[in-house]
Amino acid sequence: MDISEDALLVAIRKVLSGAGPEVRVGVGDDAAVVAPGTGDLVLTTDALVEGSHFTLATSTARDLGYKAIVVAVSDVAAMAASPRYALCALTLSGSVDAAWVMELFGGMREACDEYALWLVGGNLARGSEVTVAITAVGEAAPGRARTRDGARPGDVLVVTGALGAAAAGLRLATVPPRAPNADERAASARLARPVARVGEAGVLARHGATAMIDISDGLTLDLSRLCAASGVGARLELEAVPVAPAATQAEALGGGEDYELLVTLPGDAAVTGAADELREAFGVSLTRIGVIIEEGLVAVSSDDDESPLEPTGWDHFRDA
Ligand SMILES: [Mg+2]
Repeated sequence: MDISEDALLVAIRKVLSGAGPEVRVGVGDDAAVVAPGTGDLVLTTDALVEGSHFTLATSTARDLGYKAIVVAVSDVAAMAASPRYALCALTLSGSVDAAWVMELFGGMREACDEYALWLVGGNLARGSEVTVAITAVGEAAPGRARTRDGARPGDVLVVTGALGAAAAGLRLATVPPRAPNADERAASARLARPVARVGEAGVLARHGATAMIDISDGLTLDLSRLCAASGVGARLELEAVPVAPAATQAEALGGGEDYELLVTLPGDAAVTGAADELREAFGVSLTRIGVIIEEGLVAVSSDDDESPLEPTGWDHFRDA
């Protein structure tokens, strides 16, 4: 590193200055102190690891910092909670310098401003790869956090937005087109800067969402997790799955990192009500993609052919 740790911390503190009154002690002391809210605390942690989630050659520091916060915020959103605070544990390798680290924190600050949470502390360590680990703390009204395990047979399966953009962005990064079109540029942007559906989750919860999960590892894999947690099955209508403009259907079904919400709602009236509100408030679509059944995962094709649905997606521990 080209400057001392203390000098770096002073610089980081400047980037992160200006916390709200509920932050009593922010970055710079041994630990942060925040005033308690009135709701249930929702806690999550996630890490972006060089070589596994990103490379220094293809990710800018600013995008990486932004994404690290959004990925953690998305898990808070998937519980229908509001993000409040974040902590960052950073491992830095010899391949990055102080300017890179400041850009990283600049990106984190941008995302924290966007989603109205405070980065209140963290740690710097040295290692052989860069890792950005974020712990996020959110708040939900007492007893109102939404879990994965409430889906019941007959519930309608819906998804926000369109799927596969991040997977398409990853494909385009591997084999870049000579002149990317607008859809392709949007897919690349989505991979670099995902969107966490915080407000959308609140709307879906108000319309009676029985279970909710953010699609981080692929629709079919995250659907299988929701069904396993709820002890139910699902019929997924393949042709109904909204495919992002630059993506293929396979990318929409199995591509990770979209961070859209997969939700079960108690009936078609709830779907219509939630869809209208999401369109009006956020300009975000809500699509009915299937129904919850007693057991088994079934894929339904356009000509009503049924076949077992094999979850595909991003499994970190599966050997390639
Ligand atoms: Mg999640």
